[in-house]
Amino acid sequence: MTSEQAKSIAVLLEMNSPHYILARHKINRTGWLRAAVLGANDGILSTASLVVGVAAAHAERGSIVIVGVAGLVAGAISMAAGEYISVSSQSDTEEADLKVESKELATHDEFEHQELANIYVGRGLDPLLARQVAEALMAHDAIGAHARDELGINEMVKARPVQAAAASGASFFAGAALPLVVVLIAPFAMVIPAVSGASLVFLAVLGAVAAKTGGAGILKGALRVTFWGALALAVTAGIGALFGTVVS
Ligand SMILES: [Zn+2]
Repeated sequence: MTSEQAKSIAVLLEMNSPHYILARHKINRTGWLRAAVLGANDGILSTASLVVGVAAAHAERGSIVIVGVAGLVAGAISMAAGEYISVSSQSDTEEADLKVESKELATHDEFEHQELANIYVGRGLDPLLARQVAEALMAHDAIGAHARDELGINEMVKARPVQAAAASGASFFAGAALPLVVVLIAPFAMVIPAVSGASLVFLAVLGAVAAKTGGAGILKGALRVTFWGALALAVTAGIGALFGTVVS
């Protein structure tokens, strides 16, 4: 092996190490961040909308709080359940793929070596070098190499249902608690504007934080989530006022 080839192998190995992938792409961060931000967003927006809708229908503070708490509990459970189911099915698929793969590794050794080598040729290595890399990686950790480079599964982005469910449920809960606290402390006559205003501020801050952590534009992130939040609040307030008038 020439020193040029050895260098290419070193680069390839390093690019596939979880540490490098993590540093380069923020993949790991966006995984849990996505679940947490979505959960908190939903918590703020759905609870604020419920509260504003009920308040617009001229409910008393006690009723508004009950509706908000019920929304918080129902939402947190449903977020956790939904996330658990969706991530579980992803995890099942990964496990099934890995099972098939390790069977193939046990029975078709030569084919699997060539398969991995072909993947590296597709990424730009010359065939001889690709074969050497495939052999070295498979001698080290055959199933790991195929999981990562053939199936696209690696430890950093592996589906974790319980973690995802807990993150979603907890972040929904935290998000939903914010407008509820505002209901409790705001002067009753000001409940609708206070909850709406505070919730839009929370949403904007959250959007900005998410954008910054995920490496996207801060202002864009904040504006996007605030716009949809304002729309949802306006619609539910309108419907609440309408129903409140019709029913009472
Ligand atoms: Zn394979």
